[in-house]
Amino acid sequence: MTETKMTEDGKYLARCGQCGTWVEVYPAPATGDLFFEALKAEFQCCGRQQGATFTREKDCLDFH
Ligand SMILES: [Zn+2]
Repeated sequence: MTETKMTEDGKYLARCGQCGTWVEVYPAPATGDLFFEALKAEFQCCGRQQGATFTREKDCLDFH
């Protein structure tokens, strides 16, 4: 599974499974449930298409 993290300034990073580089990704909403929102992103590194999943608690969301 791809390692992921969110930075304090709101960027989404996914780690390449091959070289370990953190790549900035732009995830799109995927399935979630009542308490968590799921986001999915795809990125390319080392010539491989890779997928990353982010989840975050809905309490943390900003509603616009
Ligand atoms: Zn890589």
